[in-house]
Amino acid sequence: MINVSDIQRFSLGDGPGIRTTIFFQGCNLHCPWCHNPEAIPLRPQKMRDPRGRERVYGAPTDIANILAVVEKDAAYYAESGGGVTLSGGEVLLQAEGAARLAAALQAEGIHVLLDTAGDVPFAAFQKVLPFIDAIYYDWKAANAEDYRRRIGGDFARILDNLGRLIEAGCAVRVRVPLIEGVNTAPDYAEQMCACLRQVGAQEVDLLPFHRLGSAKYRALGLAYAYASVPSMTIQRAKEIAKIYQKYFKTKIEG
Ligand code: SF4
Repeated sequence: MINVSDIQRFSLGDGPGIRTTIFFQGCNLHCPWCHNPEAIPLRPQKMRDPRGRERVYGAPTDIANILAVVEKDAAYYAESGGGVTLSGGEVLLQAEGAARLAAALQAEGIHVLLDTAGDVPFAAFQKVLPFIDAIYYDWKAANAEDYRRRIGGDFARILDNLGRLIEAGCAVRVRVPLIEGVNTAPDYAEQMCACLRQVGAQEVDLLPFHRLGSAKYRALGLAYAYASVPSMTIQRAKEIAKIYQKYFKTKIEG
């Protein structure tokens, strides 16, 4: 069983090709800009969805039932070079279930991408790595104090895990959400790059902040700290990208 927040078919932004994204319920961080607030609580919760309908987020779901949904689009994955993305929430809080699901997908020849914020013991990675084709690894702040204070994360563990994955030869793309006031000032972006260079990162995707999650916060009755922050313009994202481009193969997403 896996506690699943949502399953999204025909995803286009969660990896190569056409994908199905499985959102795992529960996260151990609390990024105030999070686009998936419904996926943060660790336990299944009854809440209203963005259309106002009551539903359970994070219901325990049989892996066989997940596979039945995924298999519907197998032809699209094959045609487009797509597959399945395991996302969340933090997938690796349910590493056993994630490993079983990824193994089943691998057995069917389906490409599996893990999207993680990395704040878990490395043993959790070791459970899933044999069945994973690629990793999207979030990188959000440049020092221990900011990681702890802003999002409740363990900087040293997250950086160490990233280094170990790169050293092990995993196909890792680093994903940086661009959040004004947090990690976009030029000096700070240089510090972000310095951390990533230290562990040998090669490829970075920049994710400009957008407010598409606002409706979810309203529907869930939650306050959204970024409700009045405008989405980042592409021009602004390109300015920041120039810093990353000095060191990494860099792409702006979204
Ligand atoms: S790590 Fe991801 S899912 Fe967890 S709070 Fe941050 S943005 Fe949301």
